[in-house]
Parts: sequence; C-alpha cells; structure tokens
Amino acid sequence: ASVIELHGVVKRYRSGEETIEALKGVDFTADRGEMVTVIGPSGSGKSTMLNMIGLLDTPSEGTVHLDGHDVTDFSEDELTEERRSGIGFVFQAFHLLPMLTATENVELPSMWDTDVDRRDRAVDLLERVGLGDRLDHTPDQLSGGQQQRVAIARALINEPDILLADEPTGNLDQDTGATILDELTRLKEEENIAIVAVTHDEQLVEYADREVNLVDGVIGE
Ligand code: ADP
Ligand code: ADP
Repeated sequence: ASVIELHGVVKRYRSGEETIEALKGVDFTADRGEMVTVIGPSGSGKSTMLNMIGLLDTPSEGTVHLDGHDVTDFSEDELTEERRSGIGFVFQAFHLLPMLTATENVELPSMWDTDVDRRDRAVDLLERVGLGDRLDHTPDQLSGGQQQRVAIARALINEPDILLADEPTGNLDQDTGATILDELTRLKEEENIAIVAVTHDEQLVEYADREVNLVDGVIGE
C-alpha cells in the first residue's frame, strides 16, 4: 500500500486575469521504504507537486490519499494535524533556529506532544545521524553537513510516514552530499518511510529507487 497517492491532481493558480495550470492531471504514488526523486525544469510544477504531497496546499481537481485515507476535503486544521503526525520536511536551507541547540531544534516539532519523552528521542536521533557529540552545539557551531543532519533528525522526531525533501543536498559539497544521502538511505530502511525528494542533483538521482520526470505540469517518462 502506498503511503501517499495523488490521483488526477490539477492545480490552478490565478494571477490577475490569468489562470496558470501548474499541474495538469498528475498521478503519483510513493511506498514505504522507497526513495523517489522528482526532477524537471524550473517552472514545471515540482514545488506545487511537493506542496500537494506535503498537504501544504489543496488540489483544484483530483484526490490526495495519505496512508489510504482520502484527505482531499480535510479542513486546514485537519491537514495541519496530518502534517504534524505524518510528514517530515527537509529543506535546502536548513531552517534551524539559531538560538537553540541541536537537541532543542530536533525537539521543536514535537513540543505539542506530551506523551513521549521528547528529549530522549531527540538525543537518540542525533546519535543515529552521528551527532552524539554535538547535542548542545548551536547551528553556527556546526558545519553545513552537520546542520542538514540536525534538520533530518528534526524531520523524523514525530515518526512520520513520509519525508519530503526540497533539494536536501543543494547547499552541500559533493562529499558531504553523499554522506547525507547514505544517511537518508539508511533511515529510509530503518524507519520504513517513503522519501520524496525534489532535486537537480545527479548524485541524489543515483540514490533513488525511482525517478519521476515532471514537464510542464505533466509526469513524463
Ligand atoms: P518548479 O518548482 O518546478 O519551478 P512551481 O511549482 O514553482 O515549479 O511552478 C509551476 C508554475 O506555477 C509556474 O508557472 C509558476 O509560475 C506557477 N506558480 C507557482 N506558484 C504560484 C502561485 N502561488 N501563484 C501563481 N502562480 C504560481
Ligand atoms: P503550525 O504553525 O500550527 O505548527 P504549520 O502548518 O505552520 O502549523 O506547520 C505544520 C508543518 O508543516 C510543520 O512541520 C512545518 O514545518 C510544515 N510547513 C508549514 N509551512 C510550510 C511551508 N511553506 N513549506 C514547507 N513546510 C511547511
């Protein structure tokens, strides 16, 4: 069973008198334990598609299923809840809070959850991405690769089903990018999550189990 499914997704944006159709009927699925890359030229709809998968925006037509449930008509509050519990986000710019330590940054998305021992889970995740000796460092005391590892640990704190990555290696040199991809591949298997990554990085494509090519709002070969 796929953890995320888009069926016939159309997305239109209105800008003034004009309507832009950014997605023109996209079918897409991703399974647990699978890394899928989405590639395509600028303006082809990649960000729009990632926003649909991440439940950050809703389609004009078509349906979105998360873990087998149709979430297309969910309210904004319901979607926020689904995002918090089901989806982790990793970005090119790491978006870590500069005043907080690595551990505090990782804990942040789980602050609302009173049931779990957040600190233990944050420390465990940081240890698993090789930052057990950097727990109390702030982002400016960490390298780019280390900051991206913190961001990955943070994305996993709520035990998501899907990890969405927008150019996760975009700000890293090739060697550091490779270690991040090794890390993601290992975590994908250990946590049995789906990873969907938008990228221009050829290296990332090599690590993918499957590649999806988006051209002018349509998925091609
Ligand atoms: P990509 O990520 O592949 O560069 P996008 O999904 O950002 O592509 O954009 C696809 C198309 O939709 C482009 O023509 C873009 O200008 C348009 N678009 C994206 N977001 C908006 C928006 N919020 N309002 C109007 N047009 C948008
Ligand atoms: P709240 O602010 O109430 O916690 P949000 O909708 O802002 O809820 O965030 C829910 C989740 O979606 C968070 O994990 C956040 O990182 C992610 N998120 C929110 N906005 C964006 C965005 N524009 N791009 C990527 N991820 C986002």
